[in-house]
Amino acid sequence: MNFDFDAGFDTETRELRDMVVRFARRELDSSGRFDDAEDFRRRWLLAGKQGLTGTTVPGEYGGSGLDAVSAAATMEALGYGCADTGFAFSVAAHLFAAVMPIVEFGTGEQRAAWLPALCSGERIAAHAITEPEAGSDALHLRTRARPVDDGHVLSGSKCFITNAPVADVFVVQAATDPRGGFFGLTTFLVEASTPGLTVGRPYDKVGLRGSPTADVHFDDCYVPAGAVLGAEGSGASIFSSSMKWERTCLFAAYLGAMRRVLESTVDHVRDREQFGSPIGGFQAVSHRIVDMLGRYEGARLLLYRAARSLSDGTADEVGSALAKIAVSEAAVQLGLDAVQLRGGLGIMDGEAETLLRDALPARIFSGTNEIQKNNVARALGLGRRRPAARR
Ligand SMILES: Cc1cc2nc3c(=O)[nH]c(=O)nc-3n(C[C@H](O)[C@H](O)[C@H](O)COP(=O)(O)OP(=O)(O)OC[C@H]3O[C@@H](n4cnc5c(N)ncnc54)[C@H](O)[C@@H]3O)c2cc1C
Repeated sequence: MNFDFDAGFDTETRELRDMVVRFARRELDSSGRFDDAEDFRRRWLLAGKQGLTGTTVPGEYGGSGLDAVSAAATMEALGYGCADTGFAFSVAAHLFAAVMPIVEFGTGEQRAAWLPALCSGERIAAHAITEPEAGSDALHLRTRARPVDDGHVLSGSKCFITNAPVADVFVVQAATDPRGGFFGLTTFLVEASTPGLTVGRPYDKVGLRGSPTADVHFDDCYVPAGAVLGAEGSGASIFSSSMKWERTCLFAAYLGAMRRVLESTVDHVRDREQFGSPIGGFQAVSHRIVDMLGRYEGARLLLYRAARSLSDGTADEVGSALAKIAVSEAAVQLGLDAVQLRGGLGIMDGEAETLLRDALPARIFSGTNEIQKNNVARALGLGRRRPAARR
């Protein structure tokens, strides 16, 4: 297919992208299901050696110092070359939701302690905000951080935590003000081995099966004063900042997966003959392909526009929200179309139906698409104001 895969990349970014595609095809093959933590770690280390687990981290801490556009290009290449979108998702969640907060808000000591091993692939990070009773309403957490001499004691439970079963460190959001609200959350860096922290069994999910997800519990879990990331009360702004990265660069992995399936779907409709001719010759089929291409390209333009504004420091919540909505909705629709165009093969060839299953959670994580629309509407002066802090 001859459509633009470069999005105006410079030579260095094009070479990087091609190198990542080759690496992912060669080294990251898997069953696409998280059932072997050792093999997951083996592939993670390889990804680390390739620089994928620390692309946006400054060179002095062992990363590659890429800007958001090049980081998105790298994630897109990983999604394209790696048939296990769950693994690509895990790498992106580690980097954009957990490592970038340490880069942007960590003290010199915290950065030096954690970033080199998180970049090299020796350590894995997870970000924990969601709770059974606080999903979209993320500013009203039940997990409490109670101040004690020289630290805090965390109590509460988190759910849906990506990488929890393999994580060495958790970036945890907890309420330091029991009323919650924007200034009521504080972010903590908590080592997985901390007494009082336990991780549940990996979930059996419909999609992103190569990415391990689990609950995390804090039972009177003491963390020292040095575990606070940023200032006390700045949890919500740290979370917002990490979500700008995630809603932009993580979703680039879906662009790669969409392109991979789009290409194989075009091949299929060219080769598959019914009624004496290739099915791609039927207008109902070719128009569906054109719609798939249009949705993919439109989503890609929005994503790289958001990445450019992240790179040049002008990013706002609207750009990343629109990119997130466009990519996730396009991925679901592209998955449905790719299944339909394969006929019976579509529900068993492991490609189209896998994209569809992997795409469904993308409308939910990083803030559901409905919440993104609320945020964009609010930026337009529409919709409800944020509810006041509860007592
Ligand atoms: C694969 C996957 C990985 C995840 N990884 C992580 C992770 O690493 N760390 C983490 O902390 N969390 C993670 N999550 C959790 C994710 O962030 C939440 O699932 C998400 O924020 C939604 O919360 P909820 O599931 O409680 O849904 P709810 O908040 O209960 O929402 C249910 C439905 O109600 C709608 N809704 C709720 N409020 C409103 C409103 N005000 N206006 C309009 N509609 C509304 C929602 O859009 C949704 O459709 C992950 C989720 C998934 C699926």
